[in-house]
Amino acid sequence: KLKDEVASIQNLQQAYNSIDASKVNSFKDFPLSDKTLKGLKECGFMKPTEIQQESIGLSLRGLDILGAAKTGSGKTLAFLIPVLEALYCKQWTRLDSVGALIITPTRELAYQIFETLRKVGRYHDVSAGLIIGGKDLHFEKKRMDQCNIIICTPGRLLQHMDENPLFNCSNLQILVLDEADRCLDLGFEATMNSIIENLPPKRQTLLFSATQTKSVRDLARLSLKDPMYVSVHEHA
Ligand code: ADP
Ligand code: MG
Repeated sequence: KLKDEVASIQNLQQAYNSIDASKVNSFKDFPLSDKTLKGLKECGFMKPTEIQQESIGLSLRGLDILGAAKTGSGKTLAFLIPVLEALYCKQWTRLDSVGALIITPTRELAYQIFETLRKVGRYHDVSAGLIIGGKDLHFEKKRMDQCNIIICTPGRLLQHMDENPLFNCSNLQILVLDEADRCLDLGFEATMNSIIENLPPKRQTLLFSATQTKSVRDLARLSLKDPMYVSVHEHA
């Protein structure tokens, strides 16, 4: 069973380099694990949106991404699918530490991402947690080191990094900066910079933003390495 899984992971990874985004019509055209494909199908997600079609292949290859796409374009799955696949391919389990960190500007957005992850990721053997404040800090502290995927708001995450000795992200594989422009608009620039400086540099980073302002470019310079630019424009 384990040997089969190793072989199928190798098959998936070997297919990453030959992904042709222009030929992708359905999620099945991407080399994705059966667990992810089953979760997507049960949620009724069959055909990738444009930002998903253009970015998922690059993200699967492990590249850093600077993605620009408007609200409602499907950015959540554009990062959740690569997060799930990366941890699956590294055979992450609940016994492992924090493998992915998703930073989003508001509690409401964090909840939405968490709900989508719970549904689409339900066949995966990884745990997810919300770190968004408004809850007992001690409760969050104890739970945090049991999470493989943390979805958080910037202020609360930095508070844990500063105050919580149990919080350990030295094995972080993927950092997602969702709605980066809104994080900066809400005054989180210094907080985001401190968070990024506290994270292990050897990681993949996916940064998504609806707009590309100077402060977003500054954040991208600080957080991304040789990023691929993926920009999706509205069609008339
Ligand atoms: P964004 O983060 O870019 O604002 P979301 O990821 O929140 O967009 O997605 C917007 C809406 O589109 C959600 O209701 C989501 O369920 C839906 N959606 C996302 N991807 C797909 C897809 N591939 N097929 C159908 N619906 C999708
Ligand atoms: Mg979003």
